[in-house]
Amino acid sequence: MSAPVRAFVALGGNLGDRRARLEAALAGLSTTPGVRVAAVSAAYENPPVGGPPQPPYWNAVAELRTTRSAHELHARLHTLEAEAGRVRAVKDGPRTLDLDLLAFGDEVVARPDLRVPHPRALERAFVLAPWADVAPDAVVGGATVLTHAARLRARAPAAFDALVRAALLAVPGVAAPRRPVVLGDAAALAAWRAAVAGTVGFVPTMGALHEGHAALARRARAECDATLVSIFVNPTQFGPNEDFARYPRTLEADLDLLARVGVDAVYAPSVEDLYPTGSSTRVEVAGPSGGYEGAARPGHFSGVATVVAKLLLRARPDRAYFGRKDAQQVAVVRRLHRDLDLPGRVVVAPTVRDVDGLALSSRNRYLSADERARALALPRALGAARAAAAAGERRVSALVGVAGSVLAQAPGVVPSYVDVVDPDAFAPLAELGEAPALMVATVKVGTTRLLDNEWMTVGDGTGPA
Ligand code: AMP
Repeated sequence: MSAPVRAFVALGGNLGDRRARLEAALAGLSTTPGVRVAAVSAAYENPPVGGPPQPPYWNAVAELRTTRSAHELHARLHTLEAEAGRVRAVKDGPRTLDLDLLAFGDEVVARPDLRVPHPRALERAFVLAPWADVAPDAVVGGATVLTHAARLRARAPAAFDALVRAALLAVPGVAAPRRPVVLGDAAALAAWRAAVAGTVGFVPTMGALHEGHAALARRARAECDATLVSIFVNPTQFGPNEDFARYPRTLEADLDLLARVGVDAVYAPSVEDLYPTGSSTRVEVAGPSGGYEGAARPGHFSGVATVVAKLLLRARPDRAYFGRKDAQQVAVVRRLHRDLDLPGRVVVAPTVRDVDGLALSSRNRYLSADERARALALPRALGAARAAAAAGERRVSALVGVAGSVLAQAPGVVPSYVDVVDPDAFAPLAELGEAPALMVATVKVGTTRLLDNEWMTVGDGTGPA
């Protein structure tokens, strides 16, 4: 028998009990001879696109392994639609169940009754979002699903914003991704921690999670026996005129994302749990906290250091994971960890970017489509400086000039600072030498501050993680 093919099916519907219909379709697929449902995305609710006024849809994408042909699978999808009572009455009208074959290995089918890959799949946010959940790496039409999703999101952000993760679906024979246990206070965290037999990997976050956070959690999961993520929008690291109140809080979606990564527990405390009434101690990390973000946001790193110290003392991880994207925070945390003998090791992971180069950030969701397009000047500026360093330029003044001139040509992008620093001391450098050097840049686009950084290496080498 030939090796099973990796195929993808979109499931959607907007009539009756939408969860029951999608789960019945998944059950129908998984009991089809020669078909195995390997994984399924969350179900997303989305407003109808086109057609008459009608209720919102639920859409999901399932990944199959099948020894059947594309035509046999397509025929089976029709049967399942009919079994769900589907009648094709009004074009683009409401329907009980819609099953589309999105892709079938790398097969291309172009017949009147069947076209694979599905000709419109790459134009639909409600297909690409769940598809990127389940198989970001799958290649369709020469690019990964994640790439297609990022491209479409850059063109049509509203379509993605309109999607709401509605539920995790059950598939017979497939263990549903289990949501992490939510620990609401220090006592629950302590009990969970005491029960873990092996090593603990810990990822502190403020929620509104994206692939950058997921990458840290995946690494923790790969390297440790148990994985803990904290979600806490820490008031002490926000200035009085900053975005604490409007910072995105998306706990339900965060838990779904962490379920798919396989995170065991989420510590999501209240402000009162971390800062009980009367708490007045703040940790100051002199040195790396001083300039740059520290100067632009007085008190910010004291708030970060205080909460990280408390979290590490409460969670007692073997390894705690931080993103290079917030490079000065990394310098502060490393110094804090060393100076206060905090438990475990600090692990730093590289910045995760969208395909167009923009560093992922929870605050990117503040950007309008136009602002997001303009924000690309930031990674472009860093890339230009990096190229100049690779070509032999050692003078920081010249490298800053290269980056600055890219930013100067970008309308509506207001640089806050651009410099090259020692990544541990976060002190400015005058020249690139043998030691690692990091260009840091922060810009304001509209009302949103965006941070980014890039290693500067003379010659063609790449920097450390
Ligand atoms: P935040 O929720 O923004 O406080 O970030 C939590 C952790 O995720 C920090 O260690 C960040 O540096 C890290 N992080 C945020 N964005 C990214 C990214 N694009 N790539 C890698 N790590 C990131």
